[in-house]
Amino acid sequence: MAMLEPSLAFPVLAFAFFLCFIMSTGSYVYFQFVQQWPPTTCRLSSKPSNQHRPLQRFTIHGLWPSNYSNPRKSSNCNGLQFDARKVSPRLRSKLKISWPNVESDNDTKFWEHEWNKHGTCSQETLNQTQFFERSHDMWMSYNITNILKNASIVPSATQKWKYSDIESPIKTATQRTPFLRCKRDPSHPNNSQLLHEVVICYDYKAKKQIDCNRTAGCWNNVDIKFE
Ligand code: 5GP
Repeated sequence: MAMLEPSLAFPVLAFAFFLCFIMSTGSYVYFQFVQQWPPTTCRLSSKPSNQHRPLQRFTIHGLWPSNYSNPRKSSNCNGLQFDARKVSPRLRSKLKISWPNVESDNDTKFWEHEWNKHGTCSQETLNQTQFFERSHDMWMSYNITNILKNASIVPSATQKWKYSDIESPIKTATQRTPFLRCKRDPSHPNNSQLLHEVVICYDYKAKKQIDCNRTAGCWNNVDIKFE
């Protein structure tokens, strides 16, 4: 059997370790900062409706380390799992406003799910406290509910919007291209879709805002309802 040249052994082993490191930490290129419209989440939720909280403001769904080749990955990476003791009382009270669980009243459970599924994949950049603090700061930077309200886009049972009607005021306010996610409208599946999430994108360090790639999102040529 051929032996590895001693001069090659170090670079090959170093590369193998590097690959193992990348695979265990989960590599990503940028962040999707995802805010949801709670009435749409609740309307389509499979969880018991007596616990729903359809708040009339955009709230955080998550901060997702992402890749352009597979926008929903990385997820469930190795590393430290959620530790509720690391959420200080001050951070907790901020997250209760910006990042509530809108499907039940257990906020901590939602934060745990989001950290374990997504946060673990960006631990090389943000530890648990930084991940939640940074997300809250992002939420504070742009009030999506007010941005839309100032453009006369307010919840309505009858009005319908084009993708660009909703995208445009957010783009003007943030100076970057967001993207919108919709859910099929259960009442009129062929004629309309429900605005569900607004995504703003950030660079690898979660510091600088960047343009989002419009990946899976609202369907083209189907009117959007915001209700
Ligand atoms: P992901 O797991 O990819 O971060 O997001 C999808 C999941 O998040 C879905 O299972 C959806 O039900 C859940 N989700 C979205 N918003 C909420 C929420 O406010 N509370 C809870 N418990 N789950 C939520």
